[in-house]
Order: sequence, then structure tokens, then C-alpha cells
Amino acid sequence: MTARILEGKVFANQIKETVKNDIVALKEEFGVTPGLAVIIVGENPASRVYVANKHRSCGDVGMYSEVIEMPADSTKEQLLNKIAELNQAENIHGILVQLPLPKHMSADEAEILNFIDPDKDVDGFHPVNVGKLSIGQEHLVPCTPLGCIKMLELAGIDIAGKHAVIIGRSNIVGKPMFNLLLSRNATVTVCHSWTKDLASVTKEADLLVVAIGKPNFVTAEMIKPGAVVIDVGINRIAPKKLVGDVDFEQVKEVAGAITPVPGGVGLLTIAMLMHNTVKAARIQLKK
Ligand code: NDP
Repeated sequence: MTARILEGKVFANQIKETVKNDIVALKEEFGVTPGLAVIIVGENPASRVYVANKHRSCGDVGMYSEVIEMPADSTKEQLLNKIAELNQAENIHGILVQLPLPKHMSADEAEILNFIDPDKDVDGFHPVNVGKLSIGQEHLVPCTPLGCIKMLELAGIDIAGKHAVIIGRSNIVGKPMFNLLLSRNATVTVCHSWTKDLASVTKEADLLVVAIGKPNFVTAEMIKPGAVVIDVGINRIAPKKLVGDVDFEQVKEVAGAITPVPGGVGLLTIAMLMHNTVKAARIQLKK
């Protein structure tokens, strides 16, 4: 039997509807419109597309947004000054520095991201937010793994008691995913490039989350029949062709449910950025 296809658009639209209503409620309650500032340094064309999408999505849900474009030769100090200004700005509740930064600043990435007020850190990358997530006090959580969890919840897929296997241990996806699943009472195994006999581990998964960045890497033989498969990977294999880390055509014949690429969890990421900005606004208004 073919798997249930978990279409990202359906869930992203549900989240955006909730966010829209939350924004209306915030306006009524506090007279405040949540605001997001996105800083982009330099001319990276892919980054420009991502930033434009974020800006458009803010408009769609009735949120204020600012795109701050800084020249590629900006100094670290100029960027830190801009972040300091936004940390103080009352109309800005979420701050995001679009990555990657230009080469001359990449060694300072951690210092730059850590300079964002943790209550405005809508990417959830600040060590304070990472620490809170790891002790079960979810504050602002990275958008992509949070989007995967929201999708499972909206799809009515139980997490508690399941054996969840994650392939990938990045700070952006794999590690926060581990904490989110663990705190929802899954038994969680994290695999990475040193894992021996990966297929024997993934075959045990009731829920498999894949975030490695290798096109069609996970094949049908690696899947337990009926498993839920979440494919976070986005790989461009031709100018107009994106595929995930999971061989969708094969795996959908074995899995119980699967996310497609494109059209899967990628669409949830921006929706969760909107969600996080509203959450950040509430956090700041309660201070
Ligand atoms: P990273 O490159 O930071 O991490 C990749 C992880 O995969 C590492 O932990 C690595 O192990 C592991 N890995 C690599 N090869 C293997 C292998 N052969 N077997 C087992 N594990 C392996 O990637 P990200 O987490 O940033 O991204 C992963 C994918 O998700 C990418 O395709 C990216 O484009 C996509 N992505 C999608 C987003 C969305 O919005 N949908 C957002 C973020 C990412 P090790 O640690 O040992 O090196």
C-alpha cells in the first residue's frame, strides 16, 4: 500500500491561519503588531530569494517586517551595531541574520549570532535558547525541526513511545530534533557519518527523520514497513530539480507516511518563523 503523503502546504497554511489570528489578538490586547527584522550582508543570490520569501510571508500574515541590506564589505562592528540597535527597537520582536555571512565574517558567526537578544532570537540558535531546549524549557526553537513536530501533531501522528531515529546531528536540525522528540517521550537514536551499519538502525525506526544533504540517500531497504518518514533534505540535482535525502518513489511504497521534496517540511520552516516571531512578541510584552 502506498504511504500517506504529508503535504507541507496543507500544514503550513493551518499554521499561518493560527499566526494571523494571533496577530489580530495581539493588536487587540496590546495595540502591538509583531515585527521581524532580517539582516542580509552581501549579494548571495540564494539568500536574497530566501529573504524575499520571508518578507512576503510576513506581509501575508499581517506582520511588520524590515529587510536590512548591508554591503558585502561591512565590518563585524557595523553588523554588531545594527544588531544592538534592533535589540533595543520596540517595533522589532524578532531578529534574524541570514546565513551564510560573507567569508571575512564567517569565523565570527557565533559571536554575531550570540549578540542577538535571546528573546528576539527567532532562529533559536542562541546558546541560551539551545540550553533551554535541552532542559525541556522550550523558548524559541529552531524553525525547521519545530516545523517537523508541528506537522506530526497536525497530522495526528503520535510521538510518545515511538522509536524515532534521526540521521544527521547538525545544530540547526538534528540536535534540536533530538531534544524535541525526547521531550515528547519518543525513544530517540541519533545517527551520523560514523554510524556503523546505518540500515540496521533505521530499520528499527517507527519515525525516521533524515537531514544529511545527500540526494536520495535513504532507500526502501532502510525502512521499517509502515514507518513515518520525514525528509528534511533539500538537494539541487539540476538547475530546476530539487530532491530530498530520501528516495521518495521507492520509500513511499514501504512507509506508512512520508513528506515529499519539494512541497514537504521546507514549507513549514517559514511558517514557523512567523510563529516564533509572534511568540517572541508575547515574551517581550510579558516582561
Ligand atoms: P549538515 O551538513 O550541517 O549536517 C549533515 C549531517 O548529516 C551531519 O551530522 C553528518 O554527519 C550527517 N551525514 C552526512 N553523511 C552521512 C552519511 N553518509 N550517513 C549518516 N550521516 C551522514 O546539514 P544540515 O543539518 O544543515 O542540513 C541537512 C539537509 O537538510 C540539507 O539538505 C539541507 O539543505 C536541508 N535543510 C533543509 C531545511 C528546510 O527548511 N527544509 C533547513 C535546514 C536544512 P557528521 O556530523 O558525522 O558529519
